[in-house]
Amino acid sequence: MEIERVTIHRYEIPLEEPFVTALKPIPELERVLVEVETDDGVVGLGEGAPAYEVTGETQGSTAAVLEDVLAPLILGEDPIDVERVTRRMWALVDGAPSAHAAIELALQDIRGKRADLPLFKLLGGDAAEATIDVPKVLSIKSPAEMAADAVEAVEAGYEQIKIKVGADPATDIDRVASIAEAVPSDVSLKADANQGWGDAKTAMRALDGIAEFVDVIEQPVDKENVDDLAFLREHVDVPVMPDESVETAHDAVELVKRGAGDIYNIKLMKTGGITEAVRLNAVAAADGRPTQLGSMVEGHVGTAAGVHFVTAFENVVWNEMVGPFMTTDGITDLDADVPRISVGGPGLGVTVDRERLRALRSERAVVE
Ligand SMILES: [Mg+2]
Repeated sequence: MEIERVTIHRYEIPLEEPFVTALKPIPELERVLVEVETDDGVVGLGEGAPAYEVTGETQGSTAAVLEDVLAPLILGEDPIDVERVTRRMWALVDGAPSAHAAIELALQDIRGKRADLPLFKLLGGDAAEATIDVPKVLSIKSPAEMAADAVEAVEAGYEQIKIKVGADPATDIDRVASIAEAVPSDVSLKADANQGWGDAKTAMRALDGIAEFVDVIEQPVDKENVDDLAFLREHVDVPVMPDESVETAHDAVELVKRGAGDIYNIKLMKTGGITEAVRLNAVAAADGRPTQLGSMVEGHVGTAAGVHFVTAFENVVWNEMVGPFMTTDGITDLDADVPRISVGGPGLGVTVDRERLRALRSERAVVE
């Protein structure tokens, strides 16, 4: 079996509520869908969900790397040889993890379709089906607005709430305390500072007032501040979860050595797909640690891959595959009903709705 054609679609998914970033409000997600076709007619789906603030990638750069370099490279390869193909891709392109992920997920989809097994089974998972419950992620707003958003989320059926913090410690404490007061005590609260507190001293000020309310604090300090992550782990009474500090399995090894982090946040768009995510998760598991599968707000295909990964491994205890609930539309038959997402069938277990894809697509390129 050989790879004979790669089709790269740029498409945009409207968001329920625009993302407010430092640059501008973003009304839609810019994503890349890849279809890898074999000479015997199997089509694998993959997705790139680039986030320039994390990996320096955009939709355009991801599509260009795929079209100019990675897709031509894999023509003629056997898609079952994931190790070989990904090694060749990384040897040629050292970076652009979302572009790598788009191809790698498509190879995993083909493996599953070929074996007639869902991906989580191929990864060794023993669950009956691929299904996960996701949290609600609250954007940074005023404490009162965030408390109101939290109440609305719980009424909608969410049992976990992730709170974006990382501004000034006093307001962050207000935000978390207001939310904790507004929702029932069995709702799990998590906080993500996205490096915003910078150093351990500032983080300690915030965590003094926040730790009692949350189950975890994610990336409290700058990603390079690994010593501060280790310090906080010793000195605060809440688990610390590196996110920006851990992109690859190699990063995880470093964090393990330095005792930094209780739980690691894995993202398929940082690792470049399942293969490296499995390695990273294995490093954590070998050190007796749980992990979370985070997201870059993937569309349906990337989300489906995440559902399989979370289902497959016992130490992946949390996830944030929130994409399908943040958008008003999708391009597959993925089954999403707050707070649950399920996928069935071989491989990634999702099928593209051609009409929806055509409606959302802005550009298409074929490499053959
Ligand atoms: Mg994070």
